[in-house]
Amino acid sequence: MTPRLRLQPEAIGVGMTSQRVRDRLVERLRDAGIADEHVLNAIRTVPRHLFIDEALASRAYEDTALPIGHGQTISQPWVVARMTEVLLQGDAPHKVLEIGTGSGYQGAVLAALGLEVYTVERIGDLLRQARKRLRGLGLNVRSKHDDGRIGWPEHGPFDAIMVTAAAPALVPALVTQLRVGGTLIAPVGESGGQSLIKLVKRQDGGVDETVLAPVVFVPLLSGTLD
Ligand code: SAH
Repeated sequence: MTPRLRLQPEAIGVGMTSQRVRDRLVERLRDAGIADEHVLNAIRTVPRHLFIDEALASRAYEDTALPIGHGQTISQPWVVARMTEVLLQGDAPHKVLEIGTGSGYQGAVLAALGLEVYTVERIGDLLRQARKRLRGLGLNVRSKHDDGRIGWPEHGPFDAIMVTAAAPALVPALVTQLRVGGTLIAPVGESGGQSLIKLVKRQDGGVDETVLAPVVFVPLLSGTLD
């Protein structure tokens, strides 16, 4: 079931944020190999321009990462679409944990797909802005201000986990909070040499890992900031 977004006039967009421009982004993603129609539809529906500074709104539907303050970025739409598509290929996920809320856009795309979303962000200021945007769109996303490397054990296990900041290696606590058969997707590696990794947890507690694509993400850091 796809929740209906509450679209105020500014969410509908004009000019470089209009539906026509968003549809063009969706066609570009399709050409770049994104095939899941639910994912493409979520990208078409969620107003990315509301997740960035107004001064950058005219670039919101380019397939590129953009700054969101505090040295962080909103991920490139292709990366958001690909990671989401891979998660949905898993065993009918329902409850999803995202590490690195950032602008809130990825969380909004997951919620627009009808998933129960939990998200963790270490920078309080970014989290407050993301919460406001998600609430404004009527999307119910549970969030907390914390170091996401500890996950959110009270709500685990999760059917799927998505990490949107890169660590040198997979974070063990997150693998623990993944249910058997669940999928975790994360960028892994040092800056300059990161890969998107898909991990599926086996019945025997082991994991199957697949390297999907080279990517560029901001680093997964420890501790929290206000
Ligand atoms: N998913 C985001 C992408 C944000 S960029 C979006 O759609 O906009 C990565 C985010 O991860 C940044 O906001 C950064 O502050 C956050 N981050 C980095 N290390 C973290 C950690 N240990 N725990 C939680 N968030 C973290």
